[in-house]
Amino acid sequence: MLKKSMLILLLGLFLVVLAACGTSSEETGGDGGEQPADTEETEDTGSDAEATEDDSAADTEDDKVYTVATDNGYVPFEYLDEDSGELVGFDIDLIKALADEVGIEIDIQAMEFSGVVAGIGSGRFDIGIAGMTITEERKENIDFSQPYYDAGLILAVRSDNDEIKSVDDLSGKTVATRSGSTSETYIKEKTEGTPEAFPQITEAYQNVIAGRADAVIYDVPNVQYYANKEAGGELKTVGERLTGEQYGIAFPKGSELRDKFDDALTTLKDNGTFGDIYEEWFGERPEGM
Ligand code: GLN
Repeated sequence: MLKKSMLILLLGLFLVVLAACGTSSEETGGDGGEQPADTEETEDTGSDAEATEDDSAADTEDDKVYTVATDNGYVPFEYLDEDSGELVGFDIDLIKALADEVGIEIDIQAMEFSGVVAGIGSGRFDIGIAGMTITEERKENIDFSQPYYDAGLILAVRSDNDEIKSVDDLSGKTVATRSGSTSETYIKEKTEGTPEAFPQITEAYQNVIAGRADAVIYDVPNVQYYANKEAGGELKTVGERLTGEQYGIAFPKGSELRDKFDDALTTLKDNGTFGDIYEEWFGERPEGM
């Protein structure tokens, strides 16, 4: 009799402790830069076909919805379409096609770029796609897929600036860019210019156009897109591509999803789907596809 009541007491205590743990871990979820924006979107990628027969095992891997962290402002890879308010872009179409091929369901969450890098490194999100350059430094905390896009950095100035003709002319100049990007590192390590980093790259461009910064260094496809489509002729690129960089899809270290997405990427490159998506966003097919 005594034993039984002790057991019940212990069980009760255990449940109280368990409940307390559950609440606190939920409440300590947020830490700044990784907060998802309003633009959440759940894609049913048709994994239902593979559902297990055993309904009691509701939380099996097959039913899991994997989180995808992406950038909330990086044309034309991922950005909010002004008319529809939806997240669109090359990366968005690509990750949906890849999730379909792998047979998993994904939930895409948009945030500042630095939050994507940090959130994959810490394992907070399952997958990251954000025009993210594969670098040795990032490889310490992140596992990358094979490359899917060839980029690189380029210098740009206001269209009426004839003084800055190359990166060698940046001494004493303010060079705008985006926080946590490969360009920020490049400006610090490879130029004499003073970096000024903004959370959003459009702020960097706007500062150059307004004359508050002398130049901007950023990824070629983004600078070109902005200069051609959004700057109203007020921004021009200077010289050639400064570095060669490649974008990869990011996973927390040791993730079993990496190989699955890598295989799916090979399949989509071979069967023309990758080329179709690429052509839709960049107006031409990638070499050899
Ligand atoms: N490719 C750059 C980097 O990885 C910028 C990416 C971005 O702004 N989304 O740092």
